[in-house]
Formats: sequence, structure tokens, C-alpha cells
Amino acid sequence: MADLWQDVKKSVDKLATTINVKSKEVVQVSKVKKEIDELRDKIIAHFPGLGEVTYNMYREGNFDQGKIDEVCREIAALEEQVKQKENELKQIYRDSQEARGKRFCPYCELEIPVDAKFCSQCGKNVPDEEKTEN
Ligand SMILES: [Zn+2]
Repeated sequence: MADLWQDVKKSVDKLATTINVKSKEVVQVSKVKKEIDELRDKIIAHFPGLGEVTYNMYREGNFDQGKIDEVCREIAALEEQVKQKENELKQIYRDSQEARGKRFCPYCELEIPVDAKFCSQCGKNVPDEEKTEN
């Protein structure tokens, strides 16, 4: 009976750890995703202004490339921030996998051993990039 209790306790502990890591991850992911949405909204909000600036210059017959460049630079800077946030998301995912000591097949999402070369379910070659990066 003591052994059974130990086993139950162990699996409960393990589950609790997984849930903690997971809920922390969910909070982080939804925060970063929200930030990405806000950045995308800002990018989209720039386009009508860019169109207006361009059209007004056409009407006045006076093209000022500098004005267009200015708005485009702002959009490009926002796009760069989106890229950084997307990398943050990847990092969160990677960290959470490592925290759980787990790895998942990128093709079928089966949990696979950390040192696996191939997925045992879909048989695909599993890239090792996460390990070599660190
Ligand atoms: Zn697979």
C-alpha cells in the first residue's frame, strides 16, 4: 500500500509541476501574442496615412520622397518589433519544453526523447537545432 501511495504522490507531483510550467507559459504566450496584435494594429493603422500623404503629394504635384520614407521607416521599425516578439514566443516554447525535460516532434507533435533522431510515430528526421543553439 505504501508503494502505491508513493506512486500516486509521485504522479501528482509530476502533474502539478507540468501544470505550473504550462500555466506560466500560457500567461507569457498570451501576453506576447497580445503585444504582437497591438504592433500589427499599429502597422495597419499607418497604411491609410501613407496613402493620404502620397495622394496629397500627387495632387500638389510635389513628391517628397523623404515624407514617404519617414512613414515607411516607422512601419519597418514596427515590423522589426513583431519579429522580436515572434522570437520571444519561440523562446518561451523552447524554455517550457526544456523545463519539462521534453521535446516534441515538429511534424506530428508526439512527445519524443530529448536525444531522438527520428520520431517513432511519423518516422520523420527530427531536427536537432534547439540543442545545438544552446
Ligand atoms: Zn512525428
